Amino acid sequence: MSGGPTADVMSGDPTAGVDIGGTKIRAAVVAPGGAVLASATAPTPAGGEAMLDVAADLVARAVASAGVPVAAVGVGAAGVVDPGTGEVLAASDSFTGWVGTNLRDGFGSRTGLRVVAANDVDSFLVGEATWGAVRGVRSAAGIALGTGVGGALWLDGALYRGAGAAGEIGHMPGFGDARCTCGQRGHLETLASGRSVARRYAELGGGPGVETDVGASEVEARALAGDELAVRVLADAGHAVGSAVLMVAALLDVGHVVVGGGLARAWDLLEPALLARLRAEPPVSGHLIEVRRAVLGGNATVVGAAALAR
Ligand SMILES: [Zn+2]
Repeated sequence: MSGGPTADVMSGDPTAGVDIGGTKIRAAVVAPGGAVLASATAPTPAGGEAMLDVAADLVARAVASAGVPVAAVGVGAAGVVDPGTGEVLAASDSFTGWVGTNLRDGFGSRTGLRVVAANDVDSFLVGEATWGAVRGVRSAAGIALGTGVGGALWLDGALYRGAGAAGEIGHMPGFGDARCTCGQRGHLETLASGRSVARRYAELGGGPGVETDVGASEVEARALAGDELAVRVLADAGHAVGSAVLMVAALLDVGHVVVGGGLARAWDLLEPALLARLRAEPPVSGHLIEVRRAVLGGNATVVGAAALAR
């Protein structure tokens, strides 16, 4: 039977996915083949319970808008999420009242649905592995270059979560001496996040206007306009990501890596240094590592969360 190009992937009722981020929360109803049937978005309020209230309301709105019942809801949330209990174990300082929030119980009581809770980058990778850039791939690492740097692992056809923080390469040491957002030094995130690209550009001298508010997207624009320092800072980020990919491949022999997040928009400026790093030190396995840019964009986390709930 053929119901469409992706009907072989999954069948059954639609599920809901939720993406809980630092600035906005998005919910979507996702068909078994990965299509977003309806979605709703709202700004992220302060406090764990308020965030759950808004997220549950968005699920209800998306379900009403789609006009179909959903079997379960998957939640992809910022922070380290306990795979067993669904509790948020750790989160950045910008999430007030988020640590200790139980996503599974909080969502279950609000929606009456079965709940699967995971980290947002885990959900992003599940989305890309199910319907995106690394679909059909047996093992892959996912890297999200956003405000920070997140990571996730897809091993032998399934998400590998460890105790909740598996694949979190952003806080891997060995990348210089700069202070990381986590308080320690020299983590990958200090070179390869959007925030650190902007910070390094300013610290290294930058150009006109850096004393005001030059974000990573402005650094990207300046690099495209020929600003050599901006080009170098983005190449440094690509080189650092390449080093991290080599470590992940050495440990786990993953053959594919998918890179997403806001800074991945500057792909043409990151990729040459990243690939040069991989070519300089090919894995002893002889297996080539294929690095792909994410293709699902802002949908990856919601559709991945919905896939986890299937
Ligand atoms: Zn760190």
